[in-house]
Formats: sequence, C-alpha cells, structure tokens
Amino acid sequence: MGVPEGVGSYIKTAALRTEEVVRACGGILANGDMGIVFSGVSTDTRKLSPGELFVALKGPRFDGHDFVFEALDRGAKGLIISKFPKGFKLEECPKTVSIVLVKDTLKALGDLARYFRKKRGFKALAVSGSCGKTTTKEMCAAVLGARFRVFKNPGNYNNLIGLPLSIFSVPQEVEVGVFELGISVPGEMERLCKILEPQVSILTGVRPAHLEGLGDLEGVLSEKFKLFEGTAKEGVLIVNRDEEALFEKSQGLPHRRITFGFHPEAEVRAEGVRVLPEGTDFELKVRGRSLGRRKIRFLGAHFVRNALAALASGLAFGIPVEECLPALENISPLPGRLCPMRTDRYFILDDAYNANPGSVAEALRVFAEITNGFSLRVVILGDMRELGETARKYHEEMGLEAGRVADLVFSVGEFAEVVASAARSSGARAYAFHSVEELLSTLEIPSGAAVLIKGSRAVGLERVVAKLREV
Ligand code: ATP
Ligand code: MG
Repeated sequence: MGVPEGVGSYIKTAALRTEEVVRACGGILANGDMGIVFSGVSTDTRKLSPGELFVALKGPRFDGHDFVFEALDRGAKGLIISKFPKGFKLEECPKTVSIVLVKDTLKALGDLARYFRKKRGFKALAVSGSCGKTTTKEMCAAVLGARFRVFKNPGNYNNLIGLPLSIFSVPQEVEVGVFELGISVPGEMERLCKILEPQVSILTGVRPAHLEGLGDLEGVLSEKFKLFEGTAKEGVLIVNRDEEALFEKSQGLPHRRITFGFHPEAEVRAEGVRVLPEGTDFELKVRGRSLGRRKIRFLGAHFVRNALAALASGLAFGIPVEECLPALENISPLPGRLCPMRTDRYFILDDAYNANPGSVAEALRVFAEITNGFSLRVVILGDMRELGETARKYHEEMGLEAGRVADLVFSVGEFAEVVASAARSSGARAYAFHSVEELLSTLEIPSGAAVLIKGSRAVGLERVVAKLREV
C-alpha cells in the first residue's frame, strides 16, 4: 500500500468537521461555523492544499502563527491557533473559514489525531527503541501486509508532530497501522501512547541514545518502557529477550508477551547467524519448531533481530510465520542504513543516516565480518550527537574499535581528534577533519577498497557516499 510523501501529510480520503475539531481539542470557535469541513490537516503552509485545516505550531526557529496569512492565501478552510497574529482582523476574515482557539496548538494537534485514530478504528502497532525503529517498522509493515491492508508512517515521522500527521494520513480502508515512535525528552512516550493507543508494541532495544534529554541508560529504559505501559491491556508486547533488564521489567505487566532474540528461551529466535556480503542467513526457530535456514537482504545480526521482532508482530496479529516469511525475505535495506553498494572502484557500506554507540558497534562488527578479503579497509566516521557528558568516552571507544577493524580511519566533527587518536592507538592510520567539506577536499581512496561510512545525521556524511559513488 502506498505511503504519502512528505511532511504535513493530508487526510485525503476523510473529512473532519469543525464541530469534531472543537470537541476533540477543547477549543473555542472564534470564527466560521461548526459545519465547515476540512479535507486534511497541515502544519506546513508550503504543503498545504486548499480546503485543509492549518495548525500553527511554535517551533525552535519558526512560529506557525507567522504563516497564518499565507495559509489563508493558499485556501486553508480552518485554523487552529493559540493567538491572533499581528495585524489579523477578525472582522475581515471570511465566515467560510473556521478559527479554533486553543491554549496549546501542539497538544491540540495530538488530541485531534487521537480522536481521528479512534474514528478510523484501525489496529495500531507501535515500534520504538534506541536503534532500528524505522527498519523494524518497514519489516513489520511488509510482514503484516501478507494478510492485512497496512499503513506505515512515512519516513521518520515519529514524534509529537510526525505521529499525528501520520495518523491523519491513514486511509479509511486500512486495517493495521504501523507507527514508529521516537522520543528525546521525558514525558514524550506517554503522550505518544495516549495519542496512538497501540494494541501491539515492540521495543527493539535500549541503548545509549538521546542521553542529553533522557539522562543515563536507566533513564532511557524507564522512558522507553512507557511504551509497554501505554499499550492496551488486552494487547501484546513484543519483547527483546536479549535485553535482560527490559525482559525482567516487562514481567511486571499484565499483557500477553511474545519474546524474540538470540536467547535460547526466546519464542521467535535465530541461531547460527552468518553475515554475507549480500545478506544475512540464520536458522529460524519459532516456539521450539525449526523453520530451516532463512535469509534477509540486510547485513548484520542486529537486522536479524529486527526481522525476528517483525515475525513476532505477525504472530501477535494471528499470521502464521510461514505466511510472513516471503515478504520479509523480499525487502531491501533502506538507503543510509548499512546499505551495501558496489561501484567500479569500491565496496561501500552506506550507514551515513545516523549513529549512536549501539549502531556504530553493529556497523563495525558487520564491516569487519564481510570485508576480510579486501586489500584495504577504510572507515569514515562522523560525530555521534546528543551524548551529553559521556560523549568523549563513547567517541574514544568508537575510535579504538574502528582502529582495530580498519587500515585507514577518517573522522569528522567536534570529536574527530579523539576518534583519530584512539584509532591510531589501536594500529590504524587515522586523520581528523573539522567538516565534511574539509574531508572531501583531500579525500582519496585507492581503488579496490572497502569503505564504511557512518555518522550522525547532522554531520552529513551522505555527501561522502555521493562523492565515492561518482569516482
Ligand atoms: P532514528 O532514531 O534516527 O529514527 P531508528 O531507530 O529508526 O533511527 P534505523 O533508521 O532503522 O533506526 O537504523 C539506524 C541505524 O541503526 C542503522 O545504522 C542501522 O544499521 C542500525 N540498527 C538497526 N537495527 C539495529 C539494532 N537492532 N541494534 C543496533 N543497531 C541497529
Ligand atoms: Mg527512525
């Protein structure tokens, strides 16, 4: 099933009436009338279509209230605002436009999404965790598509804005919606769960990520765990059996659980994982029954774990594993997430989309495993962001490990020196750069090399991938 593109998604197939908006958000109607109908919801005037409801959100850089006139010019039939913008004259506003005044427009967006999700009546699967949410979401959608009409949130729309916009995009005929939930500060997960009310939920795992907002690992665990606590009581929790703390904590909840992982007690489990240059194969066992050797097109044991979670989601929705497997075996890695590429000169492992200590460790492990035969192994690493006080330590560890795996290490960003000197101390040649531009101006890699590229999104290492693909 197709997925809508871009932020500021739209309700294409459904209509929301002003009366429903006012009721759902607890707002006051300052203009228009309760019968006015909207064809969609948008938070971005650049993507707003005529007939839609514009919600003015206040962000760190922009205030949506400054774009109210533009929204009206583009044909918005309604506004959710918390104040009138400067120069706005209510008496000049046509009566065909509804204006709903609320205290907090972000809360109103969530409340409206919650209402709309209930109105649509689909079942929801929520995927969260520190690493692998988007990949697991894609795998789950593929698996559940074997039997249901499935919707998945577009791209990475996983926060307090992205989730509501995703929900507004769910077409009428959808039976199961798969949603990635991402958090960076305490309280977010509880709110996301309140909006979505998932029947089934997956925690891929809990690793050090977003430490600046969530404190230490314990803080991350208790915050992510809110997903399980916020899942419908008659629903199912899909639990990573390899994470003891998470597993133990989940035992205190009343829900039915399905476990996955490499642990001998996991209900959906894999053994004998082999990472190959074109995929990963493993022996699949479900509740003690062997389903033979299976292969996914993704590289690395961590992706096998995501695949096991996806199979478990199939079970949670009543689909036998045999029926789920063809779809799972067919889907390909997403660009930037450990995506293998061969050019005339290089073997590239493109993991430039993002980085945190968990995913860097997995990437280096996979790279080491599949590039044995290459004459030169090169690792290009960008900073890992949002690690707070522990950042230096994690970058040092990353450098040490990279130096063990690679002959040549290039590091980019604020911690480039830390990474490079650690890499040198474990035996590699290593060079540090302030910026991607600086790296690109001198980068030369001999033909025949295997190259891993990994860093936080903000570093922009996809430009390095693009350059290496050109040469
Ligand atoms: P974000 O928080 O940016 O939305 P995400 O959780 O959606 O990220 P993905 O986009 O699926 O995660 O993958 C991001 C990175 O994590 C990739 O480098 C991928 O190789 C790695 N990864 C995927 N699954 C796992 C896992 N189970 N454990 C560790 N790393 C993983
Ligand atoms: Mg994601």
